[in-house]
Amino acid sequence: MVERTLMIIKPDATARKVIGDIISMVEDKFEIRGIIMKTLTVEEAREFYAVHKGKPFYEALVEFMTSGPVVGILLEGENAIKRLREVVGATDPKKAAPGTIRAKFGTDVQRNAVHASDSPESAGYEIPFFFK
Ligand code: UDP
Ligand code: MG
Repeated sequence: MVERTLMIIKPDATARKVIGDIISMVEDKFEIRGIIMKTLTVEEAREFYAVHKGKPFYEALVEFMTSGPVVGILLEGENAIKRLREVVGATDPKKAAPGTIRAKFGTDVQRNAVHASDSPESAGYEIPFFFK
């Protein structure tokens, strides 16, 4: 099934100037349907990560995600949601498979370079934060 999914290049990765490197790793595997750079407001970040409200890392995550510009990338392709999660790798860069985006560009479990929608429901909720 052709799906759409959202990747976000997080503030750690935009600060490290690896936007181009990360886009290169998805451009050959998916159709890029949109790219936008923006700085999330605290309100937007809290809503985007609402599923994690109350968890010990939530407040720090919101602070991190609003600390600088991010790049929202709308990707499309056959099984795009699952395939993007594979290209992105595990949440903790130290546990991410070699060659994945997080293994290459992540720093720690919070500053892990990118976000990727994890289900059709998440993609449907997350895409409108960047693409109306
Ligand atoms: N996160 C964190 N500490 C944790 C787990 C997650 O700071 O112990 C951050 C990290 O940036 C992660 C985001 O919260 O990407 C969302 O967590 P989730 O478990 O949904 O991981 P993901 O779906 O991004 O792999
Ligand atoms: Mg998640």
